[in-house]
Amino acid sequence: MRSIGLLIFFSFFILLPTHASDDAVYQKRRTLMVKEIETGVRQTELYIGKSSLNSQVMKVMGNVPRHEFVPVSQKPFAYFNRPLPIGHGQTISQPYIVALMTDLLDVGPNDKVFELGTGSGYQAAVLSELVKEVYTVEIVPELGRSAKKRFQQLGYQNIKSMVGDGYYGWEENAPYDAIIVTAASNQIPPPLLEQLKPGGNMVIPIGAPFTVQQLVLVKKDKQGKIHTQQMLPVSFVPIRRNL
Ligand code: SAH
Repeated sequence: MRSIGLLIFFSFFILLPTHASDDAVYQKRRTLMVKEIETGVRQTELYIGKSSLNSQVMKVMGNVPRHEFVPVSQKPFAYFNRPLPIGHGQTISQPYIVALMTDLLDVGPNDKVFELGTGSGYQAAVLSELVKEVYTVEIVPELGRSAKKRFQQLGYQNIKSMVGDGYYGWEENAPYDAIIVTAASNQIPPPLLEQLKPGGNMVIPIGAPFTVQQLVLVKKDKQGKIHTQQMLPVSFVPIRRNL
């Protein structure tokens, strides 16, 4: 009995530093990822019209555990500044793109945001640390279900998610202060424009599927008039229209 007790006692001390150092390693990698995002922003200054992003957004990029949102096989690459496969032919966006799209939404702590394309849930998690509520819809049931579980396990209580066709938005909770579309479309879905508050921003990749699209910033002014601005070429998986 005594030796089992000792074994448990010592395993505790052996295991503890391992976990602690895992966290430290991930934290270090996140810090490097943030530096890479900063470099990417400077390199694309001519497209996006700024040489740095909102400091709150960058702080959140340095906090959200991206390794918790990717399949086990992708964990070693979780903090590389590149998109990664998440199964079902879908991808988690490149961290630079997540940071840029979040910055363009220009959100605040009282805002309500809608996302089309939950995927892994990473983009929703980033937004949830900056706003009051995030509503996100995913069309692939398996992805939607595992993202919901992940939000629960990681304690993201202000994210509401469902499986469905995000083309129609989520009317029940509309209007939204900001809308983010994380799959490419050849037009701005009219229901999403409807559900955007006057004064709100939408960010959406526009273009034909499997070609290079343009990341477009859509602004609905206080009078309800729409203004669009092309930001930079991007490559997203296409919006799907059948459940
Ligand atoms: N935001 C995600 C990455 C998105 S990849 C993340 O942070 O991981 C694009 C996602 O959009 C995919 O998961 C895809 O299945 C989903 N999607 C495509 N068409 C959709 C639609 N009509 N409604 C909701 N989700 C859609």
